[in-house]
Order: sequence, then structure tokens, then C-alpha cells
Amino acid sequence: MPSLSLHTRMLIGFIVGVSLGLLANLVFADAAWLAALVKYVADPVGQLFLRLLFMLVIPLVFSALVLGVVEIGDPRSLGRIGGKTLVWILVVTTLAVSIGLLMVNLMEPGRGIPPELGQEIMAQTGERAAQIAAGREMVSGIDILLNIVPRNPVQAAANGDLIAVMFFALMFGIAATVIRSDGTRAFVSTVQGVYDICLKLIDWVIRLAPYAVAALLFSITAKLGFDVLVQLARFVATVLAALALHFFVVFPILLRVFGGMSPRVFFRGAQPALLTAFSTSSSSATLPTTLKVTEEALGVPRRVARFVCTLGATANMNGTALFEGVTVLFLAQFFGVELNLLQQAMILLLCMLGAIGAAGVPGGSLPVIAMILAMFGIPPEGIGLILGVDRLLDMCRTVVNVGGDMVGSVVIGRSEAGQAPLSQIDEDRPA
Ligand code: ASP
Repeated sequence: MPSLSLHTRMLIGFIVGVSLGLLANLVFADAAWLAALVKYVADPVGQLFLRLLFMLVIPLVFSALVLGVVEIGDPRSLGRIGGKTLVWILVVTTLAVSIGLLMVNLMEPGRGIPPELGQEIMAQTGERAAQIAAGREMVSGIDILLNIVPRNPVQAAANGDLIAVMFFALMFGIAATVIRSDGTRAFVSTVQGVYDICLKLIDWVIRLAPYAVAALLFSITAKLGFDVLVQLARFVATVLAALALHFFVVFPILLRVFGGMSPRVFFRGAQPALLTAFSTSSSSATLPTTLKVTEEALGVPRRVARFVCTLGATANMNGTALFEGVTVLFLAQFFGVELNLLQQAMILLLCMLGAIGAAGVPGGSLPVIAMILAMFGIPPEGIGLILGVDRLLDMCRTVVNVGGDMVGSVVIGRSEAGQAPLSQIDEDRPA
């Protein structure tokens, strides 16, 4: 289908994957061939795509940030864009958690579930829940700050510790801006080479996206537990309604008022990244696509897109923050733990910090939620209650996370470019 645009082909992959997966789930649920098809075909195809994307994340994060900083140029502009990014993250994430908390207080999804049913659901996921609860890191605030600075950048990269890698890249970029020698110029042009190569590789990898999206969605929907989905319908509805409010109401308002961009143009241009986020449940795996789309389809100035999207992939997670808030309150309701307004305000703050700290990988927010639960005397193993529906919600919150990075880039890009409209996007231009 060479004549169809990428996002149309991804959309076709999406529809094919979801419909075949649902059909298989409903009609052939227990068939051995279905399990084999998922295990030997759909899963490997999806994993291959994910691995190819993850493979590019470290070189891309490093090169994008170094170049972002060097292109921004003087430290004052860097401070300004950095400051705007920080304010954006704090304000919009707070907004997202507030929407989540408001919805969970209104809909009270944790109150209607009979305790026996809750225990039954938790028994099914007990082992994994216990693992998550045991693995939660009780690190102090000081340690969180200290961990931003890697002792060994290579080890940080090997551990996938992106915040530490970002810090290293930022420092490198700043120093490369300050010393303008032949050596640093050669370094910067090499980094530019790394970045260009990464983008070319992404160009190739992304051609697999329509097939990978179909495979990933087929294996998820074929395995989806509809029973749990029905049992936790009110929780799922609360999360989805809050996410939808943020995505379809807050983002468009921010785009129009501060970004000077029509939401229709935005959603159309952003589609490949949003579909990748939905299928991979990982902001980090989506980063290559996010960068490409933000620069090319949304027309955000390169230096802003590189800086905001790269930082945003780990630090700006609106959907995750919202989800953390809803889940903590939901479990508090279920276990009958009363939380007053001050405690809820504490939770808001923790969810915001938790979203900055959560890794951009599938289920990255679960250890953070376990930690917050324990702090408020809610059994952290209670997280088992929601594990059965987590994958679906993860897909949706990752879309909001990635969407937030792109909206932020548009808004900050515009503020940097003065009042001029960001781009004259031809509405029919393929992404
Ligand atoms: N999967 C999410 C992301 O990568 C993180 C999470 O909420 O679990 O953005």
C-alpha cells in the first residue's frame, strides 16, 4: 500500500489488530492454536518492533539533548526554555491530577465492589502484586535528587536510567556551547551525525509500524480479560473519563489559547506518535516517533522539539500522574481508608513527583503507586486489584503522556518564536 500515508496505514493496522484480537478472544478464547499464534507470531513481531525502538532511545536522547542545548546557544536562552518546560510540566501535571482526583471523588468507583470479589481478583494477581509491592523503592527525597547525577554515565545508560543520561547530555551540551574550539565543533558535528543516523533508522523502523501495531494490538486484545474489565467497570470508566477530559478538553484549549494551533491540525499531525504510544504503552519507545512527528508534521522549531520532547518523555507524564491519583484514591475507597483534603493534597503532590520519576515503560508507574499506597497506610498489595485492567489503561495513559509532550512543544515553540503562527501545515500533508 505504498500510496497510503503512514498514519492511514497505522490506523488500518490498529483496526485490523483490534478487531481480529477481539474476535479471537470472544470466539476462540481457549483454542490452542490461538495461544500458539499469539506466542509465536504476534508477540515476536510486536517485540521486534519494540526492541528496534528501544535500541534507538539512548543514542537519540543523548544526541537530541546535546544538539538541543547547542542550538539554543547561550545559557540565558537555555535557562528560559528550561524554565518554561519546568513550569509547563508542573502546571499541566497538577491540572491532570486534579481532574483525576475530582473524577474519583465524584464517581467513587472503589465503594461499590463487594469485598469478596475484590479478594478474588487480588488472589489471581497476588504474586505479581507482591513483587511490585516488595520492589517499591523507598528512596528519600535527597536520594532522588542525588540520583539525577550519574556516577557512571555508561552504567546509567545500561540501566536505562534516562534522567541520569539526560543530565549527562545536558552538561555535555552546555560545555560544548561554552567552549567553541575545533575539537568541540567536530564533536557537535559527530553528534549531529549520530542524530541524523538515528532519524534515518527510525524512518526504516517506522515502516514496520502498521504491521507491528496490528500484531501488538492483536496479542493484547486476544488475551484481554473481559471478566475483570466488567468487574472493575467503574474504575476503568473513571480513569478513561478523566483521561478523555484532559486529552480532548484541556489539550485543545491549551493548543488554541497558548499554542495558536488548531486541535484538528494537531491531532492529525500527531497521530503516528499517538498510535505508537497506544500500541507500545511506552513513552520512551515512542520518543523516536514523537521527535520526528513534532519536528516534521507539527513544525515545532527543532531546538525546542528536541529539548521538550526528550525531557518530556520521562519527566512530563500527564496521563500517568492522573492515573496514579485515581488509583490511590480508588484503593483507599476500597480498603475503607478515609483521606481528608490535606491528605489528598499530599497525594496530588506525590503523584506529580511520581509522574516525573516514573519510567516511560509499560507499567512504569506501578512501583510509584505501591510506594504512595504504603505511605498512606493502604495495603500496597492492593495494586493486584487493578493489574488485570492495567494494560488497557496503560495504553490510554501513555497516549496522554506523549500527547502532553507534543502540546508542550507546540506551546513553548510558539512562545519562543514570538507571536508568529508555528507552521503553515497543509492539512492534507501526509505525516
Ligand atoms: N507506560 C507509561 C509511559 O511509558 C508509564 C506508566 O504510566 O506506567 O508513559
